[in-house]
Amino acid sequence: MRTVTVVGASVAGVHAVRELRAQGFDGRVVVVGAESHPPYDRPPLSKGVLEGTVSEPALRLLDDEELAELDAQWLLGTAAVSLDAAGRAVVLADGRVVHGDGVVVATGAAARTLPGRRPAGVHTLRTLDDARALRAELAGPPRRVVVVGGGFVGAETASACARLGHGVTVVEAAPLPLLPQLGPEAAAACARLHARGGVELVTGAQVAQVRGASRVTGVALADGRLLPADVVVVGVGAAPVTDWLHGSGVAVRDGVVCDAGCVTALPQVVAVGDVARVDGVRTEHWTAATRQPAVAVRNLLAGHTAEVLREVPYFWSDSYGSRLQFAGERGPGDRFRLVEGSLEEGGFLATWERDGAPCAVLALDRPRPFQRLRRALPRVPAKVG
Ligand SMILES: Cc1cc2nc3c(=O)[nH]c(=O)nc-3n(C[C@H](O)[C@H](O)[C@H](O)COP(=O)(O)OP(=O)(O)OC[C@H]3O[C@@H](n4cnc5c(N)ncnc54)[C@H](O)[C@@H]3O)c2cc1C
Repeated sequence: MRTVTVVGASVAGVHAVRELRAQGFDGRVVVVGAESHPPYDRPPLSKGVLEGTVSEPALRLLDDEELAELDAQWLLGTAAVSLDAAGRAVVLADGRVVHGDGVVVATGAAARTLPGRRPAGVHTLRTLDDARALRAELAGPPRRVVVVGGGFVGAETASACARLGHGVTVVEAAPLPLLPQLGPEAAAACARLHARGGVELVTGAQVAQVRGASRVTGVALADGRLLPADVVVVGVGAAPVTDWLHGSGVAVRDGVVCDAGCVTALPQVVAVGDVARVDGVRTEHWTAATRQPAVAVRNLLAGHTAEVLREVPYFWSDSYGSRLQFAGERGPGDRFRLVEGSLEEGGFLATWERDGAPCAVLALDRPRPFQRLRRALPRVPAKVG
Protein backbone atom coordinates (compact mmCIF):
# COMPACT_ATOMS: atom_id res chain seq x y z
CA MET A 1 0.00 0.00 0.00
CA ARG A 2 1.49 3.34 -1.03
CA THR A 3 -1.14 5.99 -0.16
CA VAL A 4 -3.78 5.99 2.56
CA THR A 5 -6.42 8.73 2.57
CA VAL A 6 -7.95 9.57 5.92
CA VAL A 7 -11.25 11.41 5.52
CA GLY A 8 -12.12 13.43 8.64
CA ALA A 9 -9.42 15.30 10.56
CA SER A 10 -10.74 15.16 14.10
CA VAL A 11 -10.49 12.70 16.98
CA ALA A 12 -10.74 9.39 15.09
CA GLY A 13 -8.96 10.69 11.98
CA VAL A 14 -5.95 11.94 13.95
CA HIS A 15 -5.72 8.66 15.84
CA ALA A 16 -5.81 6.81 12.52
CA VAL A 17 -2.85 8.86 11.24
CA ARG A 18 -0.94 8.15 14.45
CA GLU A 19 -1.68 4.46 14.12
CA LEU A 20 -0.58 4.33 10.49
CA ARG A 21 2.83 5.64 11.48
CA ALA A 22 3.00 3.67 14.74
CA GLN A 23 2.30 0.47 12.80
CA GLY A 24 5.12 1.19 10.40
CA PHE A 25 3.28 2.53 7.35
CA ASP A 26 5.87 4.66 5.58
CA GLY A 27 3.87 5.55 2.49
CA ARG A 28 1.97 8.74 1.77
CA VAL A 29 -0.81 9.77 4.18
CA VAL A 30 -3.32 12.35 3.00
CA VAL A 31 -5.86 13.73 5.48
CA VAL A 32 -8.98 15.45 4.19
CA GLY A 33 -10.91 17.63 6.65
CA ALA A 34 -14.06 19.69 6.09
CA GLU A 35 -13.19 22.12 8.88
CA SER A 36 -10.39 24.61 8.37
CA HIS A 37 -9.18 24.56 12.00
CA PRO A 38 -6.18 22.46 12.91
CA PRO A 39 -7.45 19.14 14.36
CA TYR A 40 -9.04 19.78 17.75
CA ASP A 41 -10.67 17.86 20.55
CA ARG A 42 -14.44 17.96 20.97
CA PRO A 43 -15.45 17.06 24.58
CA PRO A 44 -14.30 20.39 26.08
CA LEU A 45 -16.58 22.33 23.70
CA SER A 46 -19.65 21.84 25.91
CA LYS A 47 -17.67 22.18 29.12
CA GLY A 48 -14.54 24.31 29.61
CA VAL A 49 -14.74 26.10 26.25
CA LEU A 50 -18.24 27.42 26.99
CA GLU A 51 -17.34 28.24 30.56
CA GLY A 52 -14.15 29.97 29.46
CA THR A 53 -11.78 27.71 31.42
CA VAL A 54 -10.30 25.93 28.38
CA SER A 55 -8.58 28.02 25.72
CA GLU A 56 -8.72 27.19 22.03
CA PRO A 57 -5.00 26.39 21.72
CA ALA A 58 -5.47 23.79 24.49
CA LEU A 59 -7.92 21.94 22.22
CA ARG A 60 -5.33 21.16 19.57
CA LEU A 61 -4.80 17.45 19.11
CA LEU A 62 -1.37 17.78 17.49
CA ASP A 63 1.53 20.06 18.36
CA ASP A 64 4.03 21.18 15.72
CA GLU A 65 6.52 18.48 16.66
CA GLU A 66 4.05 15.64 16.24
CA LEU A 67 2.70 17.18 13.04
CA ALA A 68 6.19 17.06 11.60
CA GLU A 69 6.78 13.51 12.82
CA LEU A 70 3.55 12.22 11.29
CA ASP A 71 4.62 13.58 7.92
CA ALA A 72 1.08 13.66 6.50
CA GLN A 73 -0.44 15.96 3.91
CA TRP A 74 -3.35 17.90 5.47
CA LEU A 75 -6.04 19.11 3.08
CA LEU A 76 -8.19 21.11 5.47
CA GLY A 77 -11.22 23.28 4.86
CA THR A 78 -12.52 21.11 2.03
CA ALA A 79 -14.97 18.23 2.35
CA ALA A 80 -14.85 14.93 0.54
CA VAL A 81 -17.88 14.71 -1.73
CA SER A 82 -17.53 11.19 -3.09
CA LEU A 83 -15.58 7.96 -3.04
CA ASP A 84 -15.24 6.05 -6.29
CA ALA A 85 -16.73 2.56 -6.58
CA ALA A 86 -13.45 0.78 -6.04
CA GLY A 87 -12.86 2.89 -2.97
CA ARG A 88 -9.53 4.18 -4.11
CA ALA A 89 -10.16 7.79 -5.16
CA VAL A 90 -11.62 10.49 -2.93
CA VAL A 91 -13.15 13.49 -4.69
CA LEU A 92 -13.06 16.81 -2.83
CA ALA A 93 -15.54 19.69 -2.92
CA ASP A 94 -12.93 21.93 -4.55
CA GLY A 95 -12.55 19.47 -7.44
CA ARG A 96 -9.30 17.86 -6.38
CA VAL A 97 -9.08 14.06 -6.45
CA VAL A 98 -6.92 12.11 -4.01
CA HIS A 99 -5.86 8.75 -5.42
CA GLY A 100 -4.79 6.08 -2.98
CA ASP A 101 -4.85 2.41 -2.09
CA GLY A 102 -6.66 2.59 1.23
CA VAL A 103 -9.25 4.85 2.83
CA VAL A 104 -10.05 5.50 6.49
CA VAL A 105 -13.54 6.96 6.88
CA ALA A 106 -13.60 9.21 9.98
CA THR A 107 -16.25 11.78 9.09
CA GLY A 108 -17.97 11.64 12.48
CA ALA A 109 -21.48 12.91 13.00
CA ALA A 110 -23.29 16.20 12.49
CA ALA A 111 -25.68 17.81 14.96
CA ARG A 112 -29.34 17.12 14.29
CA THR A 113 -31.56 20.17 14.17
CA LEU A 114 -35.27 20.86 14.69
CA PRO A 115 -37.46 21.04 11.60
CA GLY A 116 -38.56 24.47 10.45
CA ARG A 117 -36.95 27.90 10.44
CA ARG A 118 -33.92 28.69 12.51
CA PRO A 119 -33.98 32.31 13.69
CA ALA A 120 -30.83 33.93 15.11
CA GLY A 121 -30.12 32.81 18.65
CA VAL A 122 -30.79 29.13 17.92
CA HIS A 123 -27.64 27.03 18.20
CA THR A 124 -26.32 23.51 17.96
CA LEU A 125 -23.06 22.42 19.54
CA ARG A 126 -20.84 20.09 17.59
CA THR A 127 -17.95 22.12 16.21
CA LEU A 128 -15.52 24.76 17.38
CA ASP A 129 -17.38 27.31 15.28
CA ASP A 130 -20.62 26.30 17.05
CA ALA A 131 -18.95 26.75 20.44
CA ARG A 132 -17.54 30.15 19.46
CA ALA A 133 -20.97 31.34 18.32
CA LEU A 134 -22.71 30.13 21.47
CA ARG A 135 -20.01 31.49 23.76
CA ALA A 136 -20.38 34.91 22.15
CA GLU A 137 -24.10 34.87 22.99
CA LEU A 138 -23.37 33.96 26.59
CA ALA A 139 -20.75 36.65 27.13
CA GLY A 140 -23.20 39.42 28.02
CA PRO A 141 -25.72 39.93 30.82
CA PRO A 142 -27.91 37.04 32.10
CA ARG A 143 -30.18 35.63 29.43
CA ARG A 144 -32.97 33.08 29.30
CA VAL A 145 -31.56 29.92 27.74
CA VAL A 146 -33.68 26.96 26.67
CA VAL A 147 -31.79 23.74 25.96
CA VAL A 148 -33.81 21.30 23.85
CA GLY A 149 -32.71 17.75 24.71
CA GLY A 150 -31.44 16.45 28.03
CA GLY A 151 -28.75 14.10 26.70
CA PHE A 152 -25.09 14.43 27.62
CA VAL A 153 -24.31 17.43 25.41
CA GLY A 154 -27.59 19.10 26.47
CA ALA A 155 -26.87 18.54 30.16
CA GLU A 156 -23.31 19.80 29.89
CA THR A 157 -24.42 22.88 27.96
CA ALA A 158 -27.18 23.61 30.49
CA SER A 159 -24.65 23.29 33.28
CA ALA A 160 -22.18 25.63 31.58
CA CYS A 161 -24.88 28.23 30.90
CA ALA A 162 -26.13 28.09 34.49
CA ARG A 163 -22.62 28.41 35.87
CA LEU A 164 -22.19 31.52 33.72
CA GLY A 165 -25.19 33.02 35.48
CA HIS A 166 -27.90 32.50 32.87
CA GLY A 167 -31.41 31.26 33.59
CA VAL A 168 -31.71 27.80 32.04
CA THR A 169 -34.57 25.45 31.20
CA VAL A 170 -33.97 21.99 29.74
CA VAL A 171 -36.77 20.47 27.66
CA GLU A 172 -36.75 16.69 27.36
CA ALA A 173 -39.24 14.57 25.39
CA ALA A 174 -38.83 11.42 27.50
CA PRO A 175 -40.12 11.07 31.08
CA LEU A 176 -36.48 11.35 32.22
CA PRO A 177 -33.34 12.43 30.39
CA LEU A 178 -30.79 9.70 29.60
CA LEU A 179 -33.33 6.94 30.25
CA PRO A 180 -32.15 4.61 27.44
CA GLN A 181 -28.50 5.08 28.35
CA LEU A 182 -28.75 4.83 32.16
CA GLY A 183 -32.05 3.14 33.06
CA PRO A 184 -34.66 4.60 35.45
CA GLU A 185 -32.75 4.62 38.77
CA ALA A 186 -29.57 6.29 37.53
CA ALA A 187 -31.39 8.57 35.08
CA ALA A 188 -33.48 9.93 37.97
CA ALA A 189 -30.32 10.55 39.98
CA CYS A 190 -28.76 12.46 37.08
CA ALA A 191 -31.95 14.45 36.52
CA ARG A 192 -31.63 15.72 40.10
CA LEU A 193 -28.29 17.30 39.16
CA HIS A 194 -30.17 19.87 37.05
CA ALA A 195 -32.23 21.00 40.04
CA ARG A 196 -29.12 21.16 42.22
CA GLY A 197 -27.51 23.34 39.56
CA GLY A 198 -30.49 25.72 39.56
CA VAL A 199 -31.76 24.54 36.15
CA GLU A 200 -35.40 23.84 35.48
CA LEU A 201 -36.10 20.48 33.83
CA VAL A 202 -39.28 20.06 31.80
CA THR A 203 -39.79 16.38 30.91
CA GLY A 204 -42.33 14.57 28.74
CA ALA A 205 -42.48 17.69 26.58
CA GLN A 206 -42.39 17.91 22.80
CA VAL A 207 -41.21 21.07 21.09
CA ALA A 208 -43.89 22.31 18.68
CA GLN A 209 -42.11 25.38 17.34
CA VAL A 210 -39.24 27.74 17.88
CA ARG A 211 -40.77 31.22 18.06
CA GLY A 212 -39.28 34.45 16.73
CA ALA A 213 -38.97 36.23 13.41
CA SER A 214 -35.40 37.38 12.89
CA ARG A 215 -34.37 36.50 16.47
CA VAL A 216 -35.63 33.72 18.73
CA THR A 217 -38.15 34.72 21.41
CA GLY A 218 -39.21 31.39 22.85
CA VAL A 219 -39.97 27.72 22.48
CA ALA A 220 -43.59 26.61 22.12
CA LEU A 221 -44.35 23.15 23.49
CA ALA A 222 -46.94 20.78 22.05
CA ASP A 223 -49.03 21.04 25.25
CA GLY A 224 -49.46 24.79 24.69
CA ARG A 225 -46.82 26.07 27.08
CA LEU A 226 -44.47 28.79 25.87
CA LEU A 227 -40.95 28.99 27.29
CA PRO A 228 -39.53 32.48 26.69
CA ALA A 229 -35.95 32.33 25.43
CA ASP A 230 -33.19 34.69 24.31
CA VAL A 231 -30.98 31.77 23.33
CA VAL A 232 -31.95 28.22 22.34
CA VAL A 233 -29.51 25.33 22.18
CA VAL A 234 -30.73 22.29 20.27
CA GLY A 235 -29.10 19.15 21.65
CA VAL A 236 -31.15 16.43 19.99
CA GLY A 237 -28.34 14.12 18.95
CA ALA A 238 -26.14 13.71 15.92
CA ALA A 239 -26.39 11.89 12.60
CA PRO A 240 -23.44 10.06 11.03
CA VAL A 241 -21.92 11.91 8.07
CA THR A 242 -22.24 9.40 5.25
CA ASP A 243 -23.88 11.29 2.36
CA TRP A 244 -20.55 11.54 0.53
CA LEU A 245 -20.32 7.73 0.39
CA HIS A 246 -23.45 7.38 -1.72
CA GLY A 247 -22.73 5.16 -4.72
CA SER A 248 -19.31 4.10 -3.43
CA GLY A 249 -20.15 0.48 -2.70
CA VAL A 250 -19.65 1.06 1.03
CA ALA A 251 -22.82 -0.03 2.85
CA VAL A 252 -24.48 2.65 4.98
CA ARG A 253 -27.21 2.08 7.58
CA ASP A 254 -27.17 4.60 10.45
CA GLY A 255 -23.42 4.80 9.92
CA VAL A 256 -20.88 2.98 7.81
CA VAL A 257 -21.54 -0.74 8.15
CA CYS A 258 -18.36 -2.53 9.21
CA ASP A 259 -17.43 -5.84 10.78
CA ALA A 260 -15.97 -6.13 14.29
CA GLY A 261 -12.60 -5.10 12.88
CA CYS A 262 -13.93 -1.79 11.42
CA VAL A 263 -13.64 -3.16 7.86
CA THR A 264 -16.40 -2.18 5.41
CA ALA A 265 -17.77 -4.16 2.48
CA LEU A 266 -14.62 -3.03 0.63
CA PRO A 267 -11.45 -4.40 2.29
CA GLN A 268 -9.52 -1.28 1.30
CA VAL A 269 -11.96 0.95 3.22
CA VAL A 270 -12.22 1.00 7.02
CA ALA A 271 -14.36 3.27 9.21
CA VAL A 272 -13.72 4.59 12.72
CA GLY A 273 -15.32 6.86 15.31
CA ASP A 274 -18.85 8.25 15.43
CA VAL A 275 -19.52 7.43 11.78
CA ALA A 276 -18.72 3.72 12.10
CA ARG A 277 -21.34 1.09 12.82
CA VAL A 278 -19.04 -1.61 14.13
CA ASP A 279 -20.53 -5.10 14.32
CA GLY A 280 -24.04 -3.59 14.45
CA VAL A 281 -23.32 -0.89 17.02
CA ARG A 282 -22.55 2.79 16.43
CA THR A 283 -20.90 4.51 19.38
CA GLU A 284 -20.60 8.26 19.90
CA HIS A 285 -17.92 8.23 22.57
CA TRP A 286 -14.47 9.71 22.58
CA THR A 287 -12.80 6.53 23.82
CA ALA A 288 -14.20 4.47 20.95
CA ALA A 289 -12.99 7.08 18.47
CA THR A 290 -9.48 6.84 19.94
CA ARG A 291 -9.34 3.04 20.24
CA GLN A 292 -10.95 1.83 17.02
CA PRO A 293 -8.21 3.24 14.75
CA ALA A 294 -5.53 0.79 16.03
CA VAL A 295 -7.62 -2.19 14.96
CA ALA A 296 -8.94 -0.55 11.77
CA VAL A 297 -5.45 0.42 10.58
CA ARG A 298 -4.05 -3.04 11.33
CA ASN A 299 -6.80 -4.59 9.20
CA LEU A 300 -6.42 -2.01 6.44
CA LEU A 301 -2.71 -2.72 6.17
CA ALA A 302 -3.33 -6.48 6.36
CA GLY A 303 -5.94 -6.30 3.58
CA HIS A 304 -8.44 -8.33 5.61
CA THR A 305 -9.92 -8.55 9.13
CA ALA A 306 -6.99 -9.87 11.09
CA GLU A 307 -8.09 -8.41 14.43
CA VAL A 308 -11.33 -7.35 16.08
CA LEU A 309 -12.07 -4.82 18.80
CA ARG A 310 -11.89 -6.00 22.41
CA GLU A 311 -12.81 -2.74 24.08
CA VAL A 312 -15.21 -2.45 26.99
CA PRO A 313 -17.33 0.60 26.03
CA TYR A 314 -16.60 3.62 28.22
CA PHE A 315 -17.76 7.22 28.40
CA TRP A 316 -17.74 10.09 30.81
CA SER A 317 -19.68 13.32 31.12
CA ASP A 318 -19.06 16.39 33.28
CA SER A 319 -21.84 18.68 34.46
CA TYR A 320 -22.58 20.82 37.53
CA GLY A 321 -19.13 20.05 38.92
CA SER A 322 -19.79 16.30 38.89
CA ARG A 323 -18.28 13.55 36.78
CA LEU A 324 -20.41 10.70 35.50
CA GLN A 325 -18.60 7.60 34.22
CA PHE A 326 -20.05 4.52 32.58
CA ALA A 327 -18.38 1.34 31.33
CA GLY A 328 -19.70 -1.93 29.95
CA GLU A 329 -22.92 -2.90 28.27
CA ARG A 330 -26.32 -2.97 29.87
CA GLY A 331 -29.63 -4.30 28.57
CA PRO A 332 -33.22 -4.01 29.78
CA GLY A 333 -33.11 -7.31 31.73
CA ASP A 334 -29.94 -6.51 33.68
CA ARG A 335 -30.26 -5.98 37.44
CA PHE A 336 -29.34 -2.55 38.82
CA ARG A 337 -27.45 -2.57 42.13
CA LEU A 338 -26.36 0.45 44.13
CA VAL A 339 -22.89 -0.42 45.44
CA GLU A 340 -22.11 2.68 47.48
CA GLY A 341 -23.30 6.24 48.06
CA SER A 342 -26.80 7.56 47.51
CA LEU A 343 -28.93 8.16 44.44
CA GLU A 344 -30.64 11.03 46.25
CA GLU A 345 -27.62 13.20 47.03
CA GLY A 346 -23.86 13.21 46.63
CA GLY A 347 -22.15 10.62 44.46
CA PHE A 348 -22.71 6.92 43.99
CA LEU A 349 -21.33 3.76 42.46
CA ALA A 350 -23.65 1.24 40.83
CA THR A 351 -23.46 -1.86 38.70
CA TRP A 352 -25.73 -3.84 36.46
CA GLU A 353 -25.60 -7.61 36.78
CA ARG A 354 -26.37 -10.27 34.23
CA ASP A 355 -26.43 -13.92 35.29
CA GLY A 356 -25.04 -12.86 38.67
CA ALA A 357 -21.95 -11.07 37.29
CA PRO A 358 -21.42 -7.32 36.68
CA CYS A 359 -21.81 -6.33 33.01
CA ALA A 360 -21.75 -2.54 33.45
CA VAL A 361 -20.66 0.00 36.03
CA LEU A 362 -21.72 3.60 36.60
CA ALA A 363 -20.31 6.20 38.94
CA LEU A 364 -21.11 9.74 39.88
CA ASP A 365 -18.06 11.32 41.55
CA ARG A 366 -16.56 7.95 42.50
CA PRO A 367 -13.59 7.76 40.08
CA ARG A 368 -11.36 5.34 41.99
CA PRO A 369 -13.82 2.54 42.80
CA PHE A 370 -15.23 3.02 39.30
CA GLN A 371 -11.85 2.22 37.73
CA ARG A 372 -11.51 -0.85 39.93
CA LEU A 373 -14.90 -2.22 38.84
CA ARG A 374 -14.32 -1.17 35.23
CA ARG A 375 -11.14 -3.24 35.06
CA ALA A 376 -13.04 -6.27 36.33
CA LEU A 377 -15.67 -6.14 33.57
CA PRO A 378 -15.53 -8.98 31.04
CA ARG A 379 -13.79 -8.07 27.79
CA VAL A 380 -15.42 -8.78 24.49
CA PRO A 381 -13.77 -12.01 23.29
CA ALA A 382 -11.38 -11.65 20.36
CA LYS A 383 -12.57 -13.35 17.19
CA VAL A 384 -9.73 -13.31 14.74
CA GLY A 385 -10.74 -13.77 11.14
C1 LIG B 1 -19.86 19.02 22.45
C2 LIG B 1 -19.42 17.59 22.59
C3 LIG B 1 -19.01 17.09 23.82
C4 LIG B 1 -18.62 15.75 23.95
N1 LIG B 1 -18.26 15.29 25.18
C5 LIG B 1 -17.90 13.97 25.33
C6 LIG B 1 -17.56 13.45 26.61
O1 LIG B 1 -17.56 14.16 27.60
N2 LIG B 1 -17.24 12.13 26.69
C7 LIG B 1 -17.23 11.30 25.60
O2 LIG B 1 -16.94 10.11 25.73
N3 LIG B 1 -17.54 11.78 24.37
C8 LIG B 1 -17.87 13.09 24.21
N4 LIG B 1 -18.21 13.58 22.98
C9 LIG B 1 -18.17 12.67 21.82
C10 LIG B 1 -16.80 12.67 21.17
O3 LIG B 1 -16.29 13.96 21.05
C11 LIG B 1 -16.94 12.02 19.80
O4 LIG B 1 -17.25 10.66 20.04
C12 LIG B 1 -15.68 12.15 18.96
O5 LIG B 1 -15.42 13.49 18.66
C13 LIG B 1 -15.84 11.36 17.66
O6 LIG B 1 -14.74 11.58 16.88
P1 LIG B 1 -14.81 11.42 15.30
O7 LIG B 1 -13.45 11.81 14.80
O8 LIG B 1 -15.39 10.12 14.95
O9 LIG B 1 -15.89 12.47 14.82
P2 LIG B 1 -15.87 14.06 14.88
O10 LIG B 1 -15.18 14.48 16.12
O11 LIG B 1 -17.27 14.49 14.62
O12 LIG B 1 -14.96 14.49 13.65
C14 LIG B 1 -15.32 14.24 12.33
C15 LIG B 1 -14.60 15.24 11.45
O13 LIG B 1 -14.84 14.91 10.10
C16 LIG B 1 -15.12 16.08 9.38
N5 LIG B 1 -15.94 15.76 8.21
C17 LIG B 1 -17.26 15.51 8.14
N6 LIG B 1 -17.63 15.26 6.87
C18 LIG B 1 -16.52 15.36 6.11
C19 LIG B 1 -16.27 15.20 4.74
N7 LIG B 1 -17.23 14.88 3.86
N8 LIG B 1 -15.00 15.38 4.30
C20 LIG B 1 -14.02 15.70 5.16
N9 LIG B 1 -14.20 15.86 6.49
C21 LIG B 1 -15.44 15.69 6.96
C22 LIG B 1 -15.87 16.95 10.37
O14 LIG B 1 -15.84 18.30 9.97
C23 LIG B 1 -15.09 16.66 11.65
O15 LIG B 1 -14.02 17.53 11.79
C24 LIG B 1 -18.61 14.90 22.82
C25 LIG B 1 -19.02 15.41 21.57
C26 LIG B 1 -19.41 16.73 21.46
C27 LIG B 1 -19.86 17.26 20.12
